[in-house]
Amino acid sequence: MNSGSHYDVAIIGAGLSGLAAGIRLAHFGKRVCIFERHNAVGGLNSFYSIGGRKFDVGLHAVTNFVPEGIKGTPLGKILRQLRIERSEFALCPQVGSRVAFGPNGEHELKFSNDFALLESEVAARFPRQIDGFRWIAAHIRTMPLSGGEAGSSARAFIRRVIDDPLLEDMILCPLMFYGSAREDDMDFGQFSIMFRALYLEGFARPFEGVRVMMRVLLDKYREAGGERRMKCGVRSIVAREGRATALILDSGEEIQATHVLSSIGSAETLSLMGGPPKAGRTLGYVETISVLSEPPSALGWGNDTIVFFNDSERFTYRDPLSPADLRSGIICFPNNFRYGEGRELSEGFFRVTCLANYEEWANLSPEAYREQKESLFPRIQLAAMRFLPRLASPDLLARSTVATDMFTPTTVEKFTGHFRGAIYGAADKRPDGRTPLSNVFICGTDQGMLGIVGAMLSGISMANQHVLKAPAGAS
Ligand SMILES: Cc1cc2nc3c(=O)[nH]c(=O)nc-3n(C[C@H](O)[C@H](O)[C@H](O)COP(=O)(O)OP(=O)(O)OC[C@H]3O[C@@H](n4cnc5c(N)ncnc54)[C@H](O)[C@@H]3O)c2cc1C
Repeated sequence: MNSGSHYDVAIIGAGLSGLAAGIRLAHFGKRVCIFERHNAVGGLNSFYSIGGRKFDVGLHAVTNFVPEGIKGTPLGKILRQLRIERSEFALCPQVGSRVAFGPNGEHELKFSNDFALLESEVAARFPRQIDGFRWIAAHIRTMPLSGGEAGSSARAFIRRVIDDPLLEDMILCPLMFYGSAREDDMDFGQFSIMFRALYLEGFARPFEGVRVMMRVLLDKYREAGGERRMKCGVRSIVAREGRATALILDSGEEIQATHVLSSIGSAETLSLMGGPPKAGRTLGYVETISVLSEPPSALGWGNDTIVFFNDSERFTYRDPLSPADLRSGIICFPNNFRYGEGRELSEGFFRVTCLANYEEWANLSPEAYREQKESLFPRIQLAAMRFLPRLASPDLLARSTVATDMFTPTTVEKFTGHFRGAIYGAADKRPDGRTPLSNVFICGTDQGMLGIVGAMLSGISMANQHVLKAPAGAS
């Protein structure tokens, strides 16, 4: 065996969970190497440049934001375990968000990083339901950070104390949009994680976007002695007697490692072991991004940070039969965070995200794909604008737009390797991270902890559980 390519731990994927796991392991003296197929780190949560402008891929908001001094939170745990100073992530809190339901947003619940606002909104608009809502919040506060018991239905849990379907859907809409891989319902474990992440804690963003966090993570990893090989995908995992004995890279090179942590998804990892090459039903998204010459507030759109909208009587969270489901979606204004006195993004941003069907995009010719994007872009914007104050003139948005971009499920698949461009991975998670091979473990999205903070927490906890705390001789 060539000792130059033998690692204590090989990590597949340099997304947030892989980087966090790598830092944790390197801090404890493990010889660790991250293998990443692309030439950029960040995975689902990366950034790219077009025409000299930097765009965040996966950042609407960092969830789980709490002010300094609050103990026992996911953010606090990450900072402590990765030895990151709070100031290094430079997180700035949101202004305020809302859930808007009805053909033109007649039903509204505002929420912010202070849970009392949402509580008072529910009390004012659904007075008969407020005791039930408070009971839910109190119950979630008792859950472990890794979430409540997986496997049961979030809707069934809510219905124990809330009998208004409108409130049930309004509570679930943001939580599903930001973290459910399951259609129509949420796994209770995921629900408890996301309820804490969005409502009990809140949203924040670094002024310069996600690259600030990536820079911090990369510096920590490097300082701790971690190795990283970019443009170095893992093509297969070779197994013998129930253990991985080698990783074969895209180049054909062979790597040995005592443990393997894979952040690329469970179906994707199983396919490296020779499993079937595609996942089952998944949920995908399209997103339109408009860069504006002015902040959205100057167009008359107010100061919302994020708006979760739905125009129908019930909120449908399903893989649509069309390229995009325009009935519901997410509007994000990255301008509307509290960046500090006199600090404003130099341009305005208007992002709209809707559910999208993978096949409707994947089966198109390049020409038809481009045409589909062109025709859908304005329709997605118009669908979202029903939930914003009316513009002074119909062409104001077009006149203020200086650049646009749009991604689809196939873009996500191309740049992250997630089958069918599934942002939230498989519906069935693997909370213990185990795979059929005793020394290969899943971390990240398919372990069950989603989002930016969740992915980092997953990397840390899988590294702790399966490598650092593993009994001698295990795996
Ligand atoms: C559009 C969008 C918006 C989002 N918005 C938010 C948000 O506002 N707030 C929030 O908290 N979260 C958000 N998320 C989710 C968040 O970004 C993800 O949950 C998180 O980044 C997942 O990290 P991960 O490490 O689990 O996986 P990934 O980021 O998927 O990392 C996996 C890495 O593995 C690499 N890889 C794949 N196959 C191989 C291979 N065979 N060999 C080597 N490398 C490989 C990929 O290139 C990738 O870099 C968003 C995601 C998207 C896409």
